[in-house]
Amino acid sequence: MRAGRDQQPLSYDVRLPDEAQADALRLLDASRQVVNAALVLLWPHLDEFMQERRGPAWKQVVALIDSPDPHGDRQWRCEAETAGRIMRAQAERKRVFQTIQPILTDGFIRPEEEKRPAAKNRKSIKEALTELQKSLEDDDTSFVTMQNVIEQCCNYYIEHDCFPATYEELQPLPRLLVGLLTFAGDDGGVKGQAHRFALDQQTDTATLRFRLPDEQGLWCWRKTPAVIKLPEIVKQRLKEGSQLAPTLREHMHPDGSRIAVLDFVVSVSKPCLPPFEQIERVLGVDWGVRTLLTATACDSASQQVGRPFFLDTGGFDGRQARTRRQIDELRNQTLAHLAANVLLLLCAVHGCSLLCMESLKTLKSTGRGKGVRGRWRNYRNNSTIRGGIWRILRYKCHLAGLRFRSERPKDTSHTCPRCGQPAHTYRSPTERAEAVKWGRWLWCENPTCGWNGDRDYAAALNIARLGVTFLTHLQRTNKAQAFTMTDPLVKPVSYTGAGAVLLLPPTGPRTRPTSSGKVYYPGWTRSAFLQSSSSKETFLRLCG
Ligand SMILES: [Zn+2]
Repeated sequence: MRAGRDQQPLSYDVRLPDEAQADALRLLDASRQVVNAALVLLWPHLDEFMQERRGPAWKQVVALIDSPDPHGDRQWRCEAETAGRIMRAQAERKRVFQTIQPILTDGFIRPEEEKRPAAKNRKSIKEALTELQKSLEDDDTSFVTMQNVIEQCCNYYIEHDCFPATYEELQPLPRLLVGLLTFAGDDGGVKGQAHRFALDQQTDTATLRFRLPDEQGLWCWRKTPAVIKLPEIVKQRLKEGSQLAPTLREHMHPDGSRIAVLDFVVSVSKPCLPPFEQIERVLGVDWGVRTLLTATACDSASQQVGRPFFLDTGGFDGRQARTRRQIDELRNQTLAHLAANVLLLLCAVHGCSLLCMESLKTLKSTGRGKGVRGRWRNYRNNSTIRGGIWRILRYKCHLAGLRFRSERPKDTSHTCPRCGQPAHTYRSPTERAEAVKWGRWLWCENPTCGWNGDRDYAAALNIARLGVTFLTHLQRTNKAQAFTMTDPLVKPVSYTGAGAVLLLPPTGPRTRPTSSGKVYYPGWTRSAFLQSSSSKETFLRLCG
């Protein structure tokens, strides 16, 4: 079953009981071998996966190849579904590669000493750029994929001194490195021929039986079912949604030990989003230069509501570079969840039903790394984390019934939010002699205004202003239209401080209170924390 527009699949992983671990891992190892052997056979057919997707992936796979190691028809279908999904993801990347390849090879990314591209290439570059812009329009998810493929191309360039001519040159044969088996190719329930999965709502448990190779490699049913206690959240989701085929997955710890988990997949309907005419407040969010995220709320009368919120991950980048990749990925995901939750909390606190976020297509980075390599790594870490936050935030907004919108960042860091005039940025509040492009402090030169503040704060306010203009214009005309900073309809935002009491105490942008509350996110000591000028007790109470 595929999730429709109004349906959303959610997945929750649960550790299998100890007594089933060895068997589940043996099944995963056997399946992984079959999936990888299938990928070898399927790889020459990559183009066929680029065509329109119809039906489940396993059907596409079994039409092309037979099982490299038959041990049950339904077991093969499940393996084929797993391999087919990998092929479909690769096909999507190949499509992206084909769009960007002419720009990379003929376009602006080439060594300085080479001549400019020949005239005949200009047309193909232009066409490619137009095509790219069209395909990426208002679609930040494709942008993340694209960024990822470009990064892969750049790594290839560093190694080979040229860009790849084909996707297959760039991408080695994909392999499943960590065991994964979806049961979506099987009939499920009592008729399953590879697995039998049943939920018992009365005892709040699920039972899973599965076929597996025994220690001699003979396939048989596992004698006893694995009994899994349903987590509270899964029970709740099951009440409102429908259960989809589960996925068995191997989870590798950084120390190399492994465990088998079962992903419960529940399809729930997306809640209705609030009608635009009922939305009164907007949260504007900016990807920071110094901090990861800055957020601030405005109402539809262009009044700032509450103080800005800075999510600082100080010290994170440097530390991350020294840790192992797998740990990094785990941390990134934890950080992404933390950031998304904080933003949803801010929406709830301020009564915002529209969250406007600076588009991911912004290329700004903290640029704190040393040298080209450091900056590149920094940029890559940043874009990986941002991509993660974006994905999580989008689905969480849907679940929470919030509207989500992406705003273009053009000029948002160089406009005064209070009077709307263009403004310069400086290295610090005290260094006003020279304006710098990425300066962290914004000063408004307008004599009747003179506002100054953290540039990320200004940008977050400006994003909120764009959101408010979008909202009020839509409410007035019934037309959805994106605005830019220079449009006269984008009103300055005022701030009186009255009625702007934030449930969470304000965070200082740079000055960290030392004696008062700092709440570390579990496992994140010194890397991610919420901070406040209130005492720890007060802070913990306010955070719930
Ligand atoms: Zn101003």
